[in-house]
Amino acid sequence: MTSHLTPVPIVVAEGDGIGPEITRATLSMLEAAGARLAPEFIDIGEQVYLRGHSSGIEAASWEKLRRTKVFLKGPITTPQGGGYKSLNVTVRKMLGLYANVRPCVSYAPYVDSLQKKVDLVIVRENEEDLYAGIEHRQSDEVYQCLKLISRPGCERIIRYAFEYARVNGRKKVTCMTKDNIMKITDGLFHQVFDQVAKEYPGIAANHMIIDIGAARIATRPADFDVVVTLNLYGDILSDIAAEVTGSVGLGGSANVGDQCAMFEAVHGSAPDIAGKGVANPSGMLLGAVALLVHVGQADVATRLHNAWLKTIEDGIHTGDIYSEKVSARRVGTDEFTKAVIQRLGQSPVKLTPVNYEGGAKLTLESAVTETTPSKKERVGVDVFLDWRGQPEKLGNELAALSGDGLKLTMISNRGVKVWPDGIPETRCTDHWRCRFETLTPGKPVTVMQVLSLILRVGNAGFDPVKTEHLFLFDGKPGFSLGQGQ
Ligand code: NAD
Repeated sequence: MTSHLTPVPIVVAEGDGIGPEITRATLSMLEAAGARLAPEFIDIGEQVYLRGHSSGIEAASWEKLRRTKVFLKGPITTPQGGGYKSLNVTVRKMLGLYANVRPCVSYAPYVDSLQKKVDLVIVRENEEDLYAGIEHRQSDEVYQCLKLISRPGCERIIRYAFEYARVNGRKKVTCMTKDNIMKITDGLFHQVFDQVAKEYPGIAANHMIIDIGAARIATRPADFDVVVTLNLYGDILSDIAAEVTGSVGLGGSANVGDQCAMFEAVHGSAPDIAGKGVANPSGMLLGAVALLVHVGQADVATRLHNAWLKTIEDGIHTGDIYSEKVSARRVGTDEFTKAVIQRLGQSPVKLTPVNYEGGAKLTLESAVTETTPSKKERVGVDVFLDWRGQPEKLGNELAALSGDGLKLTMISNRGVKVWPDGIPETRCTDHWRCRFETLTPGKPVTVMQVLSLILRVGNAGFDPVKTEHLFLFDGKPGFSLGQGQ
């Protein structure tokens, strides 16, 4: 266990564009505030990409990240053109940073914002969903991206959101999904949310469909406190929320895992203003404040955050948030940094001061309930075909291939049932899902039966492009019906 006075080793990367300016500014504010940190520097971003490392980070840097487990990261420029992997995605996945935490706050009237009363936190799942990047082209016309959601993944992020709310004195957690459409994947997220919520009776919990939820964040952000959601929705929601606060340049974010954590500004490398000394270091500073809380230096985090709030309230503003109406002085990066340092020990008067001290500790040990194996029974298979023609013809030809315990029960095209009893108005592509189900309910289908079906289908001149097996889990279907079925 690190003593309170021993500096905590962290990895710092300055990044590209305005990265070096705002990192230097952030480090000097941290030092002045009395942060007990021992930074070790690594290179990331454009220069590393151009040296031939397609992930934007060198192998040697991983050792430092894995040892210190804490990363303060400047923004990077992703070079144009193909072949470069997103450094953020690589770091998140390699270090298992499953939670992306983005506080969105408006500082009205000191910073112009569309919505004046915003103080919400978006907790976004960071590892799963469509971001697994499993994509395939299956026919001339149809491409697919797999949406993978796991029960432990849902539980971990939802528990994180409730723990975050508990530790930070937040009153409500809102879950957003599209489970009216994606009943199995988003449905799982919603179901796990309802289960975990019961363990936190002191925190209000509600669920909203993502479309209306996103609209409400834009129009009535004061209704929200902590929002927990899946990867893609969270990505979009956090930009909506940042936009309505008018403070994209002020947002910090944390990416947290069981072992490691990465802290950064929400914005990019702003090449248009790089090297001019005008960049706002606030986003990275607020990322660093979250880092301090993470490493157990809540006292320093509180001191620094309040000095920053006082600076904003005093109207000492960089160009990106300067407005003649409310600002007292337009300053560059260095002057802003000095103004924050001068206000260490002070608190805002009109804006609400923060206090990270004395809070409960976030506990995520044994966060995930072990899944008990269910009774799993194969009851059929969806065979996907690349084929052109009319559904009736396909249905008749495939129905003739039924046998060996399996029978054609349905064909759908882009999810809509087109056989039997389709209607001519349904537009079809060249990608068909042909569902074969067991002829004898209660008698599981074997892998051999599935393989022999695929052989029959292939030998009859069709082109099977993939199969999805149909299972019952403890007697309940683990697959969706075709729309109209
Ligand atoms: P950006 O966030 O860098 O800039 C958008 C606008 O906001 C620009 O006008 C910029 O001048 C301004 N701005 C951003 N941060 C500011 C600050 N701290 N102070 C003052 N003004 C600020 O977005 P972009 O221009 O779309 O992207 C530039 C590069 O950054 C791209 O290569 C992109 O891939 C990368 N990017 C990196 C990250 C990251 O590393 N986490 C995030 C987003 C974008």
